[in-house]
Amino acid sequence: MTSLSDLPLRDNLVGLEPYGAPQEPVPVSLNVNENTHPIPENVVADIVASLAEAVRGVNRYPDREFMELREALAGYLGHELVPEQIWAANGSNEVLQQVLQAFGGPGRTLLSFTPTYSMYPLLASGTDTEWIGVPRPDDFALTAEGVAAALREHQPDIAILCGPNNPTGTPTEREVIRAAYDAFDGILIVDEAYQEFDAERPSSVELLPGRPRLLVSRTMSKAFAFAGVRLGYLAADPAVIDALRLVRLPYHLSALTQAAATAAIRHSGEMLATVADIRAQRERLAAALTGLGYRVHPSGANFLLVGGFADPAAAFEALRARGILVRNLAIPGHLRITAGTEAETSALIEAITALGEPPAAD
Ligand SMILES: *Cc1c(COP(=O)(O)O)cnc(C)c1O
Repeated sequence: MTSLSDLPLRDNLVGLEPYGAPQEPVPVSLNVNENTHPIPENVVADIVASLAEAVRGVNRYPDREFMELREALAGYLGHELVPEQIWAANGSNEVLQQVLQAFGGPGRTLLSFTPTYSMYPLLASGTDTEWIGVPRPDDFALTAEGVAAALREHQPDIAILCGPNNPTGTPTEREVIRAAYDAFDGILIVDEAYQEFDAERPSSVELLPGRPRLLVSRTMSKAFAFAGVRLGYLAADPAVIDALRLVRLPYHLSALTQAAATAAIRHSGEMLATVADIRAQRERLAAALTGLGYRVHPSGANFLLVGGFADPAAAFEALRARGILVRNLAIPGHLRITAGTEAETSALIEAITALGEPPAAD
């Protein structure tokens, strides 16, 4: 046995911590923004049938270009997208890593607006790309002018707009994306991991025509209740997809992943039927916490960033002691809470009410 500090690790990885949201078997897990509703039984049966069929062929490598799945994803996204504009990998994290491998790297930069998804700087260091985190305004909402000014100043090779933004929930407005695209010459990624929950705003997929440097990243991990399968995808100009095919590992999407995802998309209506309930629970939770005196930030996602905790670490532990896991992201005074089922939301409201401490002013 040796220790990490004794190994000849790459310089830019020294001192880093791995991504580490706690994984614990508690009754109420509201810490990583999963869809906590189960998949309908008839959909389970159809996925299992597709998997059985796929297993019969696993002596061969899978379709490297996963065309059936790309056709299904193009159909799901609509807007006359064709399979040549679609890419997928094992979670959108891998899709984003491939984008960084193709367009980032040593001497290049990745910019985003913080606080935002904690994986972006980790993906940057993993590909030796310089990370530029530009702080968001106090209400976390990006403006077209602010974003354009930052992109003109830094001229990054890649910029990511996360909308709705994790961990704040803040939606990203259409004019912000347009202004961002026009402000620099690099790759612009809109990370729409939570898009299905933002019924108020259309997908940036609509903005793709005429914008060959725009990449729209999506995932089946959140609204689709498919986090365990690991399937993220992206829509962009076919030339961008050609770039990603240069860096992907051959056969990166297993035959089982392709079969399960293709089957699930056949049932997208049923798979997404829980979205309306999750949105309703989000609003119920927001109203209850606001009533208790907490500060709830506007959210277009399946979670809320909640301020007013005098001691977020203590509140986190008190909730954990009651079997409820939420996320403490070290934003002063704040916790991030996923909207779950009606019963989970009830348990959470009860537990926060029982904390009994008056919310801190912030
Ligand atoms: C959860 C999440 C993802 C999705 O990751 P997967 O690898 O697809 O599970 C991507 N971006 C953001 C902002 C997320 O919150």
